[in-house]
This record gives sequence, C-alpha cells and structure tokens, in this order.
Amino acid sequence: MNEKFIILTTTGILGDAIKNIVKGDAHVDVVSLMGPGIDPHMYQTTPKDVQQFRRARIIFYNGLDLEDKMKDLLAKERKAYAVSEAINKAQLLFEDMFPVGIDPHIWFDVKLWKQVVGFISQKLQEVRPESAVYYQNNTLAYMEVLEQLHQSVTEQIQSIPEKQRVLITAHDAFGYFGKAYDIEVVGLQGISTVSECGLQDIKRIVALIIKRNVKAVFFETSVSDKSMRAVLEGCANYGHEVVVGGCLYSDALGAPNTLAGTYCGMVRANATTIVNALK
Ligand SMILES: [Zn+2]
Repeated sequence: MNEKFIILTTTGILGDAIKNIVKGDAHVDVVSLMGPGIDPHMYQTTPKDVQQFRRARIIFYNGLDLEDKMKDLLAKERKAYAVSEAINKAQLLFEDMFPVGIDPHIWFDVKLWKQVVGFISQKLQEVRPESAVYYQNNTLAYMEVLEQLHQSVTEQIQSIPEKQRVLITAHDAFGYFGKAYDIEVVGLQGISTVSECGLQDIKRIVALIIKRNVKAVFFETSVSDKSMRAVLEGCANYGHEVVVGGCLYSDALGAPNTLAGTYCGMVRANATTIVNALK
C-alpha cells in the first residue's frame, strides 16, 4: 500500500495555501490542526496533535510566536518551517506589545501572503520533486488569483472616504491589512489575545470613537466580544451611537464550504464587511 505524504499545518489559513499548490494531488494529504474559529495564540497541543506531528512528512507554521503555546514543540521539529521567514525583515511590523516584538498577522497583506505561498511552494517542490512542475504551475495560477484579490481589496477600501477609514477591532490582527490598504487600525487588546484588555484601553477607544465620530466597530470570529461590548456600553453612556459593523475573520478561516472557508473568501468577506459598515 502506498502511504500518503502528509503535509501538516498549524492554521487552516496555511492549509488553504497548500491546497492551492498541491491541488488534488492524490498522493498528498493536507492536515491542519486549528479549525474554524480557533484562536492560534491560545491553542494548546493535544496528544492527537503530537501523533500528527510524527506522521507528518513536512510541517508549516506561521511563526513570530503566533502559535505561542506550541512554540517549543515547533522549534525542536526539524521538518517544520516557519513561513514568516519568507518575509523580508523590512516588511515586518515591529510592535513592542508582542513578546517577539513583531506582529505575526502577516496574511492580511495579500502581497506578503504571495511571498509566503512562493516559499511553501518551493519547499514542497524540494520534498516532492516528482510533482515539482505540477506544483509550480498551480502556484503561478494561484499567484494571479492573489494579485487580483489584492487589487480588488485596494479598490474597495479606497472607496471609503479617508476620514472614515478607521478600523476598530477586538485585537490587533489587522496591522498589515491597515498598512497595505491604507486604513487606520485600532486594536482593543494588543496584538496577542493572551493579554487581557484593561479598563484604560476601553476608555481610550471610547474617547477615540466619539472624537472621530466612528460609525462602527467590529467583532472577530476567534476572539471573545466581551471587551468590545464594554466599548459599546461606554459609547452609549455618552449618548454616542456606534453600531457593530459585523464580525471579521482574523486568525482563523470560516467553516468549510462557506464563503469565508478559504483564504481568498475570508479576505473578501472582511473587506466587504468593513466597506459596508464604514462607507
Ligand atoms: Zn491574532
């Protein structure tokens, strides 16, 4: 019996990138440990995951301590690659509030994600030379799709009047998104969901919403909405009306077979939610 070549990823977002590279290759299985709605900052390895690590032939993870609680296991795994290594230091966002001092949410700048896809494709071509040409062709086709996605998100966000371009979310997952698509991003909780949001943070955001007359704030699928509800309450106490613009996908894909079940779908869903609420 021919055993399958197992490619393991931490996040589903990475799994989706790989599915677009290996596309239906019957000799390969793509396994992602974190499903829809799972918060990677808090994710703890299960005994079943450890078995998956053993079975996997190659492992991809985000790195920059996104998988904070798994980092020791990942660091000692020789067949594991941190995809954030694909990105040039100058393109990373340095943020003191994160343990390694760098924002790990690199997937929300589609241009950076293209570099990650190229990096993964290269590694897969090395470990599966018999499929290298196939992977290479699939990668080129997917790069086109990503380029179009980048263009359309750029246009969508530009359609929001400049002074209304303020994105207020539960945690700072959208720093790269903001930089790439020219929208100011304010997170309630800091970059990692591990750090709790304090009363001071809530007061600061309420003041900002009132001062800038912000129309909407956003929930996130993989983060508790508790702090954001406190912000809404705070605004109401001052008689300032602000609505929930919707729920954004930040650190995890949507359910399989839904619009946001793929990387492209997730980015598109977010852009549409943001534009509809802020425009
Ligand atoms: Zn995050």
